[in-house]
Order: sequence, then structure tokens, then C-alpha cells
Amino acid sequence: MIIFDLFPNGKTKAVTFSYDDGDRNDAKLIEIFNKYGVKGTFNLVSGWVGLSDNFLSKSEVYDISKTHEIANHTRSHQWNERIPVDQMIMQVAHAKSTLEDIVGKPVLGYAYPNGQYNNELLTVLKGLNIAYARTAGQSNTFAHPSDFLLWTGTCHHDNAIPYAKKFVSLSSYSQLPIFYIWGHAHDFARRDNWNVIIETLDILKDDNDKIWYATNFEIYEYLTAIKNLRITSDYKCVYNPSCISVYATADGEPVEFKPGYTILK
Ligand SMILES: [Zn+2]
Repeated sequence: MIIFDLFPNGKTKAVTFSYDDGDRNDAKLIEIFNKYGVKGTFNLVSGWVGLSDNFLSKSEVYDISKTHEIANHTRSHQWNERIPVDQMIMQVAHAKSTLEDIVGKPVLGYAYPNGQYNNELLTVLKGLNIAYARTAGQSNTFAHPSDFLLWTGTCHHDNAIPYAKKFVSLSSYSQLPIFYIWGHAHDFARRDNWNVIIETLDILKDDNDKIWYATNFEIYEYLTAIKNLRITSDYKCVYNPSCISVYATADGEPVEFKPGYTILK
């Protein structure tokens, strides 16, 4: 029997962050994330990159992309579900290509400006090969998304502290729990409450031997790799068609399924 209860390197829980808009306060948040060894996803409005000193510059975005994820938050932060479909396509495609020019790799994540979407926009995102998209809701759980294009995080950072306490006390029965926190760094500045994120990270730190800190895309990639495994009915051979390893427990022992075939004893 194979139980999928491990994240990369034998970790049993995952934490991920998603922050929108790309204004100057992101740089301060990234400093905090780097100090704690935490990874984040930063959803940028392509038309605002380098627009003024209030926003991240292209070179800052490139530097951030080496450790964290850069994702798509449209060209100009329109209410995307309310505009003509060709404009909707241009909003998403412009941000995708502009950000890809800066970071030098595919930009596959998206966050809905103002949290708004409709079926037409979902079709556009699929057509542009967007891998996942984040809403502005709260699931209030550590569950996996049933649809990555409607990925709703656990909570906004304003509510993160009680969930962080709950997360570190989870029993091993909870299989691959994901704590997903989202927000806007400018809210910390506006409300002068940077302590919220620091207290959240301090609570999680006590559980660091169990926690995999990952970008949104890394979580998407890992959960998708699990789903794509092909396993013989006798559990003796596992085929992993993805380009990353999948970790699991087989007959009570941790195993790594590298890309390709793994024969189990
Ligand atoms: Zn936004």
C-alpha cells in the first residue's frame, strides 16, 4: 500500500503565501520572508512594474524571481470579468508576456484582481495555459483545491494567527495539509501591523522540521505530479511522468518516486 502523506524531502505539511499588486511594500515583506526562509508568490500588475518609485522595478522583480514566484495580476488591474473578451485576453496575455520577459521563464500563476471572475474569464485563462488562479475568498481549511483555477486560500493574513496555531497542532492524521495565506503588503503599511506576519511566522517556525515552505506554483506542481502517477495494481511499480520527485510512504517506509519508473520491493 502506498500512502501519499509526504511533501518533498519528507515534510508533512506545506505553507504558502500569495501577495498582490507589486508595490514598494512587497520589498519589505520579502525581506521578512527571506529572514524566515519562507517562500512567497507575488502577483504583479505588469503595467505598474517600474512605473514609479512606489512600485518594484524590473531588476527587483528579476531578483525576487530567483527565490520566490512571480505571477500574473493583469496589465492594469481592471475588473476583468466586466470588459470585452478581447480586452480580457489582452489583460492576461500582456502581463504574462511582460513578466516572462523580465524573469526569463514561463509565468503560470494568476490572481484575480478584486477577486472577481466569471466563466468567460475562466475560458480565457485555460486558453492562455494559466496553471492556477487565486480567488480573494477564504476556505478556512487546510484542504487542497478541487479546481486550481478557483484556488481559494486558507485565509487573509488578518486572520492568520489563529490558523497558524491550529496548523502547528495538527495531528499526523491530516494528509498533506496546506496552509495558504494571502493579502497585500500595503495593508501592513496602511494599518501599521507588520507584527501580524511576524507573529504568524514565529508560530510556524516551531514546526519547521515538518513544514515545506513553497511557492503557489511549487504546490500546484507537486500535487499535480501525485495525480499523474501511474501505479500497477500490485503496487510494485510506479511510473512518474513528471520532472520532479514524488514522496510517499510504502509499507511503512518513506520512498521517493523519481521521474520515470520505480520498482518497489
Ligand atoms: Zn490587486
